[in-house]
Amino acid sequence: MGPSPALADRLHRARCFILVEGVVQGVGFRPFVYRLAKTHRLGGSVRNGQHGVEIDAEGGREAIARFLDDLRSAAAPSLASLRRITITWTAPDGHGEEFSIDTSSAEGEPALFPAPDLAVCASCLAEMLDVGDRRHAYPFLNCTACGPRYTIIRALPYDRERTSMASFSMCPRCREEYEDVEDRRFHAEPTACPTCGPRLALLDAAGQALHVADPLEETVAALRAGRIVAIKGLGGYHLACDATASEVVRELRRRKSRDAKPLAVMVGRLEAARRLCVISDAETTLLQSPARPIVLLPRRSLGAGQGVADEVAPRLRHLGVMLPYTPLQHLLLGRVDLPLVMTSGNRSDEPIAFEDGDAVDRLSDIADLFLTHNRPIQVRCDDSVARCIDGVPLLLRRARGYVPLAISLTHEAVQPILACGGELKSVFALVRGRDVFLSQHLGDLGDERAYRAWTNAIDHFQRLLAITARVVAHDLHPDYRSTAYAQRLDGVRLVPVQHHHAHIASCLADNGIDARVIGVSWDGTGYGTDGHVWGGEFLLADLEGFERAGSFREVAMPGGEAAVREPWRMAAALLQAAYGDAMDELDLGFVRRLDRTVWRRLTRAVEQGVNAPLTSSVGRLFDAVASLLDLRDRVDFEAQAAMELEALAEPEADRVYAVGLQEKDHGLVVETSEIVRGVVEDILAGTRAEQVGSRFHATLANVIVRACGHLRERSGLERVALSGGVFQNLRLLRLTLDGLRRSGFHVYTHHQVPPNDGGLALGQAAIAARMCHDGRCC
Ligand SMILES: [Zn+2]
Ligand SMILES: [Zn+2]
Repeated sequence: MGPSPALADRLHRARCFILVEGVVQGVGFRPFVYRLAKTHRLGGSVRNGQHGVEIDAEGGREAIARFLDDLRSAAAPSLASLRRITITWTAPDGHGEEFSIDTSSAEGEPALFPAPDLAVCASCLAEMLDVGDRRHAYPFLNCTACGPRYTIIRALPYDRERTSMASFSMCPRCREEYEDVEDRRFHAEPTACPTCGPRLALLDAAGQALHVADPLEETVAALRAGRIVAIKGLGGYHLACDATASEVVRELRRRKSRDAKPLAVMVGRLEAARRLCVISDAETTLLQSPARPIVLLPRRSLGAGQGVADEVAPRLRHLGVMLPYTPLQHLLLGRVDLPLVMTSGNRSDEPIAFEDGDAVDRLSDIADLFLTHNRPIQVRCDDSVARCIDGVPLLLRRARGYVPLAISLTHEAVQPILACGGELKSVFALVRGRDVFLSQHLGDLGDERAYRAWTNAIDHFQRLLAITARVVAHDLHPDYRSTAYAQRLDGVRLVPVQHHHAHIASCLADNGIDARVIGVSWDGTGYGTDGHVWGGEFLLADLEGFERAGSFREVAMPGGEAAVREPWRMAAALLQAAYGDAMDELDLGFVRRLDRTVWRRLTRAVEQGVNAPLTSSVGRLFDAVASLLDLRDRVDFEAQAAMELEALAEPEADRVYAVGLQEKDHGLVVETSEIVRGVVEDILAGTRAEQVGSRFHATLANVIVRACGHLRERSGLERVALSGGVFQNLRLLRLTLDGLRRSGFHVYTHHQVPPNDGGLALGQAAIAARMCHDGRCC
C-alpha cells in the first residue's frame, strides 16, 4: 500500500536555493525567472544577492527539475551570461504557488557587476520607427534587453538612483511599464520616453545653445553640407563628418592633428557596409552583435569618387566599419544617408571627451556643431575594435560592449589582485576569486589626462567590486607610469612580471589553459630581464615562469625612442650590421637619401653606447624593412609602417629568405642581418616591393615554424602560443598558423583580449593569481 495522498504530495515536494552567477543584473533575468516559476507552478522568490541572482523555489520535484533545465536553456535572456549555477536542496517549507520578485536593494547588497552597454534591440527599434508608437523617433528608448549600462552607472547595486537617470523622474506610463513584471521594461533602469526622458540639444562651436525645432534635422543638414559635428554617444563624444568627401576628411584630420591614423566609418545598414567592403558570415555576425564593435574589413576596390574617401584610411586595405548602436545613431544615419566618419572626440592621443563642459572646451576648435543631450555619461568608454580570423573574432581594442564582462581564470586567487598592465594601450585588471575584470582601453599613459583617467578608473572599479587589491602585478619597465604607480602603493605585495611573459600568459588565460608552451612573443618594445629592449622572443613558459629559449640577434636602436618614430634609423642600423661600411656602396634609394652627417653622428653615439639600447624587436625589423622599401622613414603612430607593409604585400610569396638559426648556449639566435640581406638583394635585383613584402612575411612565418621545431625537440612541447602586437598582422598570423599546424603543433591565439599591450593586464593577472593560489604571494 502506498502513502496517503497528502503524504505523497509532501514526499514529492522539494525546495531549493539556487545561486546564479554571471551577468544577470540589468538584463531582464529576474522577470525571466519569475515567468519560469509561474509556468512550473513553483512558489518562492527571486532577488539580487551578494554574489548573483538568488532563487528560493519550492514545488514538485519534477517541476523543479524542469525549471532548472529551462533556467540553463537557450530561453534565458540573450544578454544574460550564466557563469555558474549552484543548487542547495533543503526541506520544503509549505510555500504555496506564490512567487515574488524581491526588488529591494538593501544596503551592502550585491557586489555584482552590471552588463556592458548594449546595442538597441529589435523591439525598441520597431517602436522607434512606428509612427503610432509613443516613442516614435525618440532617440533614448531602451528596455531590459538593450541600452546603456556600464557607462551610466555611478555605484552598485544597479538601480535607477545610482545611474545617470536618477534626475529624470518617470512619467506614469513609464512607471507602469517599469513595475509590470510582464512588460519588457520591468525594472529597465534607464527607461524613458519623450515625456519624461532625456532630450537632444544643439550647440554651436562655442557651446551656446541653438534654439532649433529639430536638432537632429539641423545636424543632418550640417553633415550633408560638409561640416564637422561632435555627437554625444554612449561612452563619449564622436566627431562625425561625411566620409565620402576628401576635403572634409582632410579638414577633420587637420583640426584633430591626426595625420594618418585610420578613421572609423559608421554606415546605416549592413547593405551599405557590403558596398564598401567584402564581408564574411562571421564578420556579419560580429558587426551585428550587441557589442557592435568597429570591425576591420577588407575594402572593395572602387573607382575614384565611389565609396569612402582615400583620406579615411590612407594606404590601408582594411576599413574600420561599425553599424549604429544607439537609437540616436539609427535616426541620424537613417536620415543622412551617407557613410559617416565616426572617430573619437579628442585631439591626437588624448582620451575621448565625455563630460559636456570638457567636450565643448576641448572640441570647440574641431567641431562646427555639437549634437548633445542631458543624460550624463558616468564612465568614459571608447568603441571596441575587432577583426575575424578563422571565422572567430579577435579583439584589437576591448572597450564598449565588452567591458565589464569577466574572464575566468584557471586558478582562484585567495587575495584581491590588481594588474596594472603596460604603458601604451593601457588596460588594468582586477581579480576577485576566479574572475578577472578588465578595464576598458584607457589610452597611452604618457598623456596626463589618460593617466588621471586610468587612476580614477582603478578607484571606480575597486569601489564597484567592493574590493581593495592586496596583490599588485606590474611590468618590469622602470619608466612605465603604471610601474611607478604600483611601487607607490602601501601594504601590497608586488608581483613584477616580464613584458613578454605577460603576453604569453595572456594568451594562455585567453584560452582558459595553464600549461607549459612554446611562447612566440613578438612586439615593438618590452623591457627584458637584462635591461635590453626585447621584442622577438621565443619563451618556454607557463603561468609559473619562463625561460628565454630564443630571440632575434640584437642591434642598437640609434637614438633610443627616436628610432621608434623614425624607422629610417633602424633601417640604417640594420644595413650597417649586415654590410658594415660597404652599405655606402649599395645602389638603394634608401642609401641615396640617407643624410650622412646625421648618420655619422649617430654611429659615433652608438659606438660609445650613448642612447643606443640593444633590441631584438620584430616590430623594429618591420619598420626597417618598410623604410628600405621606401614606404616611409617616419611614422605618425605606432605600427604605421608595419601596417602599410602588411597592406602592400602580395597574397602569395614564391620563396623565403635564407635565415640562419644559431644554437647558442643561451638559446636560439635568429640572424636578423640575413633577413635584411635577403630584402636588400631583392631590391637591388629590381623585385617589386609588393613581392619583397610578401617574401618578408613568409620568411618570418618560416622562422617561427623552424624555431618551434627546434624547441619541440629540446623540450618535448607541442603547444605554441602566439602573442604580442606583431600578431595583429593577419597575414603573418595566417601564414604562421598554417605553417605550425602543418608541422603538427597545437596553436593558441588571442580572441577575448588583444595580442597587443591591451592584453598585458590579463597575463599579469593570471600569473599573480596562480602565485596567490599556490600561496606564494603572501
Ligand atoms: Zn530594447
Ligand atoms: Zn515616460
